[in-house]
Amino acid sequence: MTHEVGAGELQTKLQLIEATQLLVRQIVADFVHSSVDDFDGCVDAAFARLGAFLDVDRIYAFEVINGALDNTHEWCAGGVSPEIDNLQAVPLEVCSHWFTRFALDEEVFVPDVSALPDDRRAEREVLEPQGIKSLLVVPLRVQSETIGFIGFDAVRAAREFSAIEVGLLRSLADVITSAIIRQRADEQERRAQAQLRAMTRYSADHALLMDADGMVSAASESWSVLGVRRDDLLGRGWLDLVPVESHETVRAMLAAASEGFDDHRRDTIDVATVLEGSGPAWLEIVFHDLPDEPEIGGVVMCVRDVTNRKLAEQDRILAVQTDALTGLGSRAALEAELEAAMHRAAASGSQVGVLFVDVDRFKLINDSHGHATGDLLLAKVGERLQRAVRSGSFVARFGGDEFVVIVEDVTSFAELEALADRLQDSFRTPIDIGGLAITVTASIGIATGDTVSAQAGPLLRDADTAMYRAKDAGRDRYALFDDCAREEVVRRNEVMQRLPLAIEQGLIVPHLQSIVEIETGRVVGAEALARWDDPVIGTVSPDEFIAVAEETGLIVPLGLQMLDQALALAAGWPERFTVSVNLSPVQLSDPDLAVAVADLLRHHDITPSRLYLEVTESSVMSNLDRGIELLHQLRSLGLLLAMDDFGTGFSSLSMLRRLPVDVLKIDRTFVSGDDGKGGKGDPRLVRAVIGLAQEFGMVTLAEGIETEAQRKLLWRQGCKRGQGWLFGRPVTPEEFQRLIRRHDAARA
Ligand code: C2E
Ligand code: CA
Ligand code: CA
Repeated sequence: MTHEVGAGELQTKLQLIEATQLLVRQIVADFVHSSVDDFDGCVDAAFARLGAFLDVDRIYAFEVINGALDNTHEWCAGGVSPEIDNLQAVPLEVCSHWFTRFALDEEVFVPDVSALPDDRRAEREVLEPQGIKSLLVVPLRVQSETIGFIGFDAVRAAREFSAIEVGLLRSLADVITSAIIRQRADEQERRAQAQLRAMTRYSADHALLMDADGMVSAASESWSVLGVRRDDLLGRGWLDLVPVESHETVRAMLAAASEGFDDHRRDTIDVATVLEGSGPAWLEIVFHDLPDEPEIGGVVMCVRDVTNRKLAEQDRILAVQTDALTGLGSRAALEAELEAAMHRAAASGSQVGVLFVDVDRFKLINDSHGHATGDLLLAKVGERLQRAVRSGSFVARFGGDEFVVIVEDVTSFAELEALADRLQDSFRTPIDIGGLAITVTASIGIATGDTVSAQAGPLLRDADTAMYRAKDAGRDRYALFDDCAREEVVRRNEVMQRLPLAIEQGLIVPHLQSIVEIETGRVVGAEALARWDDPVIGTVSPDEFIAVAEETGLIVPLGLQMLDQALALAAGWPERFTVSVNLSPVQLSDPDLAVAVADLLRHHDITPSRLYLEVTESSVMSNLDRGIELLHQLRSLGLLLAMDDFGTGFSSLSMLRRLPVDVLKIDRTFVSGDDGKGGKGDPRLVRAVIGLAQEFGMVTLAEGIETEAQRKLLWRQGCKRGQGWLFGRPVTPEEFQRLIRRHDAARA
């Protein structure tokens, strides 16, 4: 049977369908365009739109939360009571009947609540108090699970719901469930992001994502650990992070990364840099190329701060235990070994002897046959020494052509003299170097140790002194320190007696040695070195009288006197010349030092930054905290600090970081590829020190440059300043004045 419809009725129906479609479109648009956070607002708005369009009394949503039903949204027609507050945590059993239908994705229509059968009494008892006469509910289903429902109530009169009304409720349920699905996915994503952020924030690796031009598009939060603000990285070239010298390496790496690495698509480099927030640092940079992940669109760079590891490595270089050339103990090992032996001797009440062996005229051999031959010869000398000593005795190369033998359980000097004879005999047969027969002799100094203090330094110095005596006496022989000691004591007494007078009468005056720019040889200043020509006891070298002055405490007035004189001289030079003055460790423990220095600076009206004070490593190390404090105090006067004789002390390179010094003076022994005795400095060490100093923002100054070859090498290694006979010996103030005048004329 067909249902006849008139034109007017059809028109109305079409209008209704059109209006319904429009409504659904509006509701869908609301949900699509809203943000996830606005879900509740969208549901309320949809209910309101629907309520205005349909003749229903309530529209609502329930959600299954913790196994019960919560009324989460509600819209009521005018005059209909809201029930949302009464409908929280409603047990599921109340409408278990509905859920059976929902599981089949069917809606539930209750035409007459009061007619609900007894097996649905619980349902009736909940619905009736709300005045509900009939209702329609449809499930909200996500992945075949019912997570809630939405529905219409009829309160004012029982009623049926048209197909259009059912359809609308169904459509709304679809829209709401898809919004919930989106919301859950978003939440999951947000949690994943937060977890990722938390992990990267505390990671030891600092990651960056960048394009082929090095522009940063993403950076992990952990950059802050390095003192780098993440926002500063974004949208910027990350090359700013590394010093200019390293740009080329890093660019090459980046280019290689963009083309794809050969292997594993990753590569690593180490870069030294200074980070704004945290000072000097070594960074290990690992590049990962991710061609299989086009959505990343670039190279991932992971940076790790390896400063501590690097410093430890540098320290190890300092402490290499074996001498590379001879395979004997190194100088560092010698000192440790000697002190250990002295401790053992102190414990057992025995004596330790040291033989200081120096090859005679080695420089001549080096010069006539070349360094390669010289090196081979030293290796053979080492072998012979090792063979000639008792097994178990320790033999070390002290440096250059100097060797040291430690003898334990010494009972008499005669025993050591016998060993010295044996060592000298071992050289009697010529040494064969590639068909060349070379005969060498050696001078040997012998000393025995004061095992109470157990210090390697003084014992080695005594043996060295004795060795020089053997040389002076005509070479190829040995000398005992005891004999030298007697002469020394006499001399020392003279110096001790004359010193106070010499200071009082101003007999000790500064001479000046030029300090130059290694590259150009341009003089930039001078170091003041104390000179004492005494009318009674003759010329006394600073090595003699400084030690005496330190022991007697006279170094405090003497040091200030030197500073006073040096500043007076510098005040007469053009402003651009600096003056360097040595500070004794003893002066560093003078509580009035900083005040006295400040007074002198004021008195001479000299720009403080023209003054460099030179302190030694060991003087600061002996009382580190106080030392550092004092250095800061001095520096706050505006003057600059130089670390003298660097490399001879035992401070670790890592300690350097804490010292507020501007200049690092690399000790002469490390500089000399030729120390007059054919010895060799260690270019590796020099390089390490220069590199490190640069990282710490210090200028390096090499002492004792005597040859053009040394100058070139140091310059290539990045050393900026130099001092030594190549540029000039210490001269009188008058001569220095002339020198700078000539210098200025040449420049003009
Ligand atoms: P220093 O501070 O390391 O001074 C450098 C020493 O190396 C000076 O020895 C200098 O004459 C010498 N020298 C410079 N260039 C060369 C070179 O190319 N080859 C060689 N073989 N030697 C070079 P000097 O003048 O005998 O002073 C010895 C030490 O006495 C100084 O070592 C310093 O520690 C101390 N001294 C000198 N004057 C003073 C002073 O006024 N106060 C204090 N506290 N110590 C001073
Ligand atoms: Ca010095
Ligand atoms: Ca020095």
